[in-house]
Amino acid sequence: MPGKTELTELSKEELTQAVVALGEKPFRAKQLWQWLYFHGETDFSLMTSFSKELREKLAENFTITRPKIVAEQISVDKTHKWLLEFSDGQRIETVYIPEEDRGAVCISTQVGCAMGCRFCHTGSQKLTRNLTAGEIVGQFMVARDVYKEWPTPKDETRYLSNIVVMGMGEPLQNLDNVIKALKILTDGEGISISRRRITLSTSGIAPNIIPLVQTTGVKLAISLHAPDNEKRSRIMPINKKYPLEEVLQACHDYQQLDGSHFVTFEYLMLKDFNDSLEDAHKLMDLMRRFRINAKFNLIAFNPWPGCDYEPSSRSKIIAFSKELQKNRFAAPIRVARGQDILAACGQLKSKKEEPK
Ligand code: SAH
Ligand code: SF4
Repeated sequence: MPGKTELTELSKEELTQAVVALGEKPFRAKQLWQWLYFHGETDFSLMTSFSKELREKLAENFTITRPKIVAEQISVDKTHKWLLEFSDGQRIETVYIPEEDRGAVCISTQVGCAMGCRFCHTGSQKLTRNLTAGEIVGQFMVARDVYKEWPTPKDETRYLSNIVVMGMGEPLQNLDNVIKALKILTDGEGISISRRRITLSTSGIAPNIIPLVQTTGVKLAISLHAPDNEKRSRIMPINKKYPLEEVLQACHDYQQLDGSHFVTFEYLMLKDFNDSLEDAHKLMDLMRRFRINAKFNLIAFNPWPGCDYEPSSRSKIIAFSKELQKNRFAAPIRVARGQDILAACGQLKSKKEEPK
């Protein structure tokens, strides 16, 4: 017997083809899409706009799967972390970061990460595999299940309002699946998250930056973390393959294309490594050289068990931020969220055993 098709792995076009292949009219595909992504329905027997025969036919041919929640933790600051498991047993983490009345879901794109950044907990775990498009979208669907945000609410009333592609893995190393997932997440007849409410962060896979932006229109953040190639290569091995010049040229091109005012650069403050005023000036010179309207997010390093680095002192971070601002660069200091449950930036790592 041929296996059933997992619907969440299909693009809208593929889903339409699959429904038509069963001898149904294309408008049934549109209804099915809405059941999946507008209503969040996982049970064919509850899809009441279909006849009983059609519901049975769909159930015979298709499946709708959600990642399984194996553990979850809620921080004192309400950050919510889930350890999710896929059908092959692989696990990743997804985090919801609430702000005052809305918030962002931070999703993962790979099990582990091949980039091996020295400061990152995920990077200390080798890459196991890419996530599929369905597994990427599934993380957001789990969050909506938990926060009971089905059917898709109006944008203004959503609790889960934004998405940051900043969880485990390097999204631009899994470009095709990430693009497919972003198309599903932004589709107006389904989950309907505006592309302007989605930010993707990359360690700098330069040749994939423009293709991502052209196909999806999401906002871009670059993990910069150092003001020159020598330092950056020490903490981010990918810099040897795609040095700063290539990444920044792609950012310049992105800005020309996108028309958006800023490119966001994440800058991790590491004690006595990249936190001097001289470093701040080197950084600004780079932005002027590549004519980039940069905004810097200064991130305090979040330690994890066994890491080699230490966070810069609060006073160093403030001085660094002031120096950038004095020169008209936005440079907010980002507050770590969910640190107590290892849910903050760079702390995610899938566990082999279930946490107690
Ligand atoms: N792989 C992508 C996205 C995931 S990492 C990337 O590297 O951009 C999300 C952000 O967390 C990146 O800016 C990353 O550099 C940062 N980060 C990694 N480890 C960190 C740590 N220990 N403390 C604070 N931020 C960290
Ligand atoms: Fe991978 Fe990003 Fe961590 Fe680097 S910072 S190891 S690219 S997840």
